[in-house]
Amino acid sequence: MIPLADAQAMILGAVAPLPARPHAIRDAVGLVLAEAVIAREPVPPFANTGMDGYAVRAADTDGAPVRLKVVDELAAGRAPTVAVGAGEAVRIMTGAPIPEGADAIVMVELTRAEGDFVVIEQAAEAGAHIRPAGGDLTPNQPVFDAGTVLTPAHVGVLASLDITEVACHPRARVGVMSTGDELVAGGPLELGRIRDSNRPMLLSVVAEAGCEPVDLGIARDEEHELETRIAAAAGSCDALLTSGAVSMGDFDYVKVVLERLAGASFTWSQVAIKPAKPLAFGVVQGMPVFGLPGNPVSSRVSFELFARPALRKMMGRTTPIATPVRATARTAFSRRPDGKVHLDRVRVTVADGSYECERAGFQASNVLSGMAAANGLALIPDGDGVAAGEPVEVLLLGQ
Ligand code: AMP
Ligand code: MG
Repeated sequence: MIPLADAQAMILGAVAPLPARPHAIRDAVGLVLAEAVIAREPVPPFANTGMDGYAVRAADTDGAPVRLKVVDELAAGRAPTVAVGAGEAVRIMTGAPIPEGADAIVMVELTRAEGDFVVIEQAAEAGAHIRPAGGDLTPNQPVFDAGTVLTPAHVGVLASLDITEVACHPRARVGVMSTGDELVAGGPLELGRIRDSNRPMLLSVVAEAGCEPVDLGIARDEEHELETRIAAAAGSCDALLTSGAVSMGDFDYVKVVLERLAGASFTWSQVAIKPAKPLAFGVVQGMPVFGLPGNPVSSRVSFELFARPALRKMMGRTTPIATPVRATARTAFSRRPDGKVHLDRVRVTVADGSYECERAGFQASNVLSGMAAANGLALIPDGDGVAAGEPVEVLLLGQ
């Protein structure tokens, strides 16, 4: 058996970031910038007021209260036409440009209108409530580095710079194919048949990971069919997830076919983890193929430990493997030494600002309801388990 970290390193070593291409900014949340973004114009584009109030000459407000003549009214969106002379003020709304002559804004709450005049009740300092041109960003300033993961706030900043497209690593198109003669996609079940739960689960988790899922259906346990379908996927997908047919059964053809198609890149490893010990992986015509185990929980755990980090690397993430958090075991995690790290499905809660966790549901690799009840995978090291109150490392799911 190989250690989990070695298996993860092997897989990450076999995948590379997808070539960047332009993306409309609104489609780019969650994507990674492949190039730095440089400001092309100042933000804000002109000096403007941060308050509704009066544009004044600060010196005129010395010895407030003072009475100034109101010579104009400026709404946001209008260019000033009247300058502020000595003893004068312009009524001004948030976001409007500062008129010539003015060097301070007095907020309306500190004033009193008196016909054509305004009484300023407090002296203003020069520059008060003025947002200078380029106060946030100046032309040629580097705004975001390559490697930035774009959020809605990044989209807003890009829009403020009139940048409508950015070069990002694309969403990986990820094919998902179930294997097994026993699987049915819907309808009545004959004895011996089961429903295909892996494919909908994996398609969903792929979408949740920011990739583009591609439904490749159910392949029968037939060597030639499997080979044709996996080879065909390489034409349309950046990565492929299969499930089932990677262990020691007589009809476990995924590893046989993958070995043939992936050549030297093929690995079939026993990873020192439970569940998800068998790991079949290979690169077929440039497309990484993850031969996930068939048992639904194993399939998901294998996805989280191997496929998700690889997909993150392909999409340009510089930290593809998520860092576990530390949680306190609410109840004991009993286990026996077997040379493996156990990935227990756990429910993580926050108590007094700290993480706590306990096992979620029945821990068997075919019991998907336990997975559904979980929001984390606890890494229980080899040994006799963890007592209640002790710390446990947990990989949070769905983030
Ligand atoms: P295998 O490794 O192909 O022998 O599959 C291991 C177990 O997982 C068997 O009990 C299969 O019936 C089950 N299994 C395989 N694929 C799926 C699937 N897509 N959905 C639900 N169960 C599956
Ligand atoms: Mg099977």
